[in-house]
Amino acid sequence: MQTISVSTKGRFDFVEITHQIREVVRESGVKNGICVVYAPHTTAGITINEGADFSVRKDILKELDKIIPLDDNYSHLEGNSAAHIKSSIIGCSEQLIIENGDLVLGTWQSLYFCEFDGPRNRKVYVKIIEE
Ligand code: ZN
Repeated sequence: MQTISVSTKGRFDFVEITHQIREVVRESGVKNGICVVYAPHTTAGITINEGADFSVRKDILKELDKIIPLDDNYSHLEGNSAAHIKSSIIGCSEQLIIENGDLVLGTWQSLYFCEFDGPRNRKVYVKIIEE
């Protein structure tokens, strides 16, 4: 398993990690298999979405805020329940196909680390399984 570090900038942040994960795949020497990208955090997530237009990330964060308000009389006393709920909705991992030594992604797809309770220094685990 490999670990990559991600520094998030604001309370909410989508950090593109596609190039870092591609580098881990390349260094592994695996030509065909599966790549699991996993965030070991309860207030963050991993997702795949549009990479070309930054406004898509802004819209996702905006709409998540509408569904899950920051303050809603939550029981969790740490004050970051909204971040925990967003983490569960987005999910903390993605599985990608490796073909010919590279990730298989659609033309407009990028891989994101999703911060819901930053800024923080975070980790992403990458596990590569050879076919
Ligand atoms: Zn908490």
